[in-house]
Amino acid sequence: MLHNKTALVTGSTSGIGLGIAKALAARGANIVLNGFGDVDGARAAIEALGVQVMYHGADMSKPAEIEAMMHAAAERFGRVDILVNNAGIQHVAAVEDFPPERWDAILAINLSSAFHTTRLALPAMKAANWGRIINIASVHGLVASAHKAAYVAAKHGLVGLTKVVALETATTGVTCNAICPGWVLTPLVQKQVDDRAAQQGISVEQATRQLLGEKQPSMQFTTPEQLGELAVFLCSPAADNVRGAAWNMDGGWAAQ
Ligand code: NAD
Repeated sequence: MLHNKTALVTGSTSGIGLGIAKALAARGANIVLNGFGDVDGARAAIEALGVQVMYHGADMSKPAEIEAMMHAAAERFGRVDILVNNAGIQHVAAVEDFPPERWDAILAINLSSAFHTTRLALPAMKAANWGRIINIASVHGLVASAHKAAYVAAKHGLVGLTKVVALETATTGVTCNAICPGWVLTPLVQKQVDDRAAQQGISVEQATRQLLGEKQPSMQFTTPEQLGELAVFLCSPAADNVRGAAWNMDGGWAAQ
C-alpha cells in the first residue's frame, strides 16, 4: 500500500515512533529514522522489513538541524510523503517550580519542531498532490493533568496546528491529523511509574495500577503497535477525507 512512499518519523529510535515506523515499513514505505535512542536496533528492525532506511540525528529543539534533516531526506528519497511528528519529552512539576529551561525545551521539541518539519515538507507534498502529516499529540492535547503545564500547553498547541494545516490543505491530496494516545508503556512513561514507586515507597506493579486507575478506565496500556495501525489507516485511501481530526486511543480517558 505504501510502496514508493517515504515516511519520516521524528523520535523513532524507541517507543511510539518506532512502533509507527515499523507499521509503515511493513506496508512498504521507506523510512527516515530520527532520535537519540538505540539507532542500530531501530535501523535493524526496519531493514528486516525489506525497505530502505536512513537515519538523521537532528535535535528537534534546533531549527537549523531540522532543516538539514528535511533536506537530507529529500536528497535521498526525492521527498517526504508521510511526516510523523512524534519526538517528545516530558517534565512533571508544579507551575511555580517548573524550570523555565524545561518549559522552553518542551515547547521546542513537542510543538515548534512540528511547525518546522511541516513548513518544510508541505511544498513537495502539495506539488505531488499527496501527503500525510500525522502529529502525535496526546490525550493531554484534549484535557489537562496537574503538574504538566508545558506538556499540556504544547500538546494543545499541536492539536491547534493540526487543525490549521488541515484547513490550509483541505482541497488538496494532503491531509493532516493528530493522534492522541493515553498511557503507553514506553521509556517516557516508565520513568513516571518508577518516580511514583520511589516517591511513595510502593512496588512498580502497584505504581502502574495506580497510574492507570487514576486516568485510563480500560486499565490497559495502549501499545505502539496499535498506534502504528492507526497511522497506517490515516495513510490509506479510506482516510482521504479525515482532516483536522484529533483521534484519541486512550482506553476511555477523555470520555470521563
Ligand atoms: P520515548 O521517550 O520512548 O520516545 C521519544 C523519542 O523522541 C525517542 O526516540 C527520543 O530519542 C526522541 N527525542 C527526544 N528528544 C529529542 C530531540 N530533542 N530531538 C530528536 N529526538 C528526540 O517516548 P514515547 O512515549 O514513545 O513518546 C513519543 C511521543 O508520544 C511523544 O510526543 C509523547 O509526548 C507522545 N505520547 C506518549 C504517551 C505515552 O504514554 N508514552 C502518551 C501520549 C503521547
